[in-house]
Amino acid sequence: MTKPVFRFAPSPNGHLHLGHALSALLNARAAVALSGRFLVRVEDIDQTRCTPELEQEMFEDLAWLGLPLDEPVLRQSESFPRYRDALERLQDMGLVYPAYLTRAEIKAFVAAFETGGKAWPRDPDGAPLYPGDAAVLSAQEITARSGSDAPFALRLDMVKALERIGGPLCWQEAGAEGEALFAPPVAVVADPAAWGDVVLARKDTPTSYHLSVVVDDARQNITDVLRGRDLYHATGVHRLLQELLGLPEPVYRHHRLILGEDGRKLSKSNRDTSIRALRAAGMSHAELRKRIGL
Ligand code: GLU
Repeated sequence: MTKPVFRFAPSPNGHLHLGHALSALLNARAAVALSGRFLVRVEDIDQTRCTPELEQEMFEDLAWLGLPLDEPVLRQSESFPRYRDALERLQDMGLVYPAYLTRAEIKAFVAAFETGGKAWPRDPDGAPLYPGDAAVLSAQEITARSGSDAPFALRLDMVKALERIGGPLCWQEAGAEGEALFAPPVAVVADPAAWGDVVLARKDTPTSYHLSVVVDDARQNITDVLRGRDLYHATGVHRLLQELLGLPEPVYRHHRLILGEDGRKLSKSNRDTSIRALRAAGMSHAELRKRIGL
């Protein structure tokens, strides 16, 4: 039997918080329990927000957590040609189109639509689905933008992509913690259409989170994706891209989220719960584990 391969894939665009600590420790624990490997992947495609200093500090936090990391560490900013290849394959299938609406234009369109009393459909994260350029721009304006250096996103044509797959799509979800780690996975019906025409790349960034995560999970032979519940629904998009690109399907586990004192999900802008700040305030390893329920 091949050994399981787990990964922890943080983005160094802020300091790691308690939610990251839970993810990292659960991955490490699962890898040890199942005699597998545990890799770290630096998800730094956003080169304006991810900095070498933050990456360095992230590794200091991981070292403090005492994780049994295996090599190699993959850095997404060094892998752009691989994502471009995957994007080109989807383009060759006729599934990608340039989309010119800016965020402000989408927002204005949705606000105008909703004055009619009906809600515009939103994705599982609450962002409005892409309405299509033609819902807002004239044919002349679309032609003008495509011939200029206007910003654009490359989006997946969800309807065509689903047609190409032809049948229903599932993922395998296993328990995330404790004994459940060894429970047999159950099939979850994937609903990528809930996300509409997702962004695969942008004018200045040749990839997106969804595209790079599936390319890298395959490239690193990840067998088990264990990550936060906030990415549960995104798994539908990942399964669709895996099917389209002929990539293997890992088993998924989505763990509970750590909430702040206000009952909300932690974010990197919340300095009080960064591992760094807690360490500086003298929190011990044991106290940290207790705080995150491990
Ligand atoms: N880079 C993502 C994050 O920091 C996690 C990606 C994943 O685990 O699939 O939220």
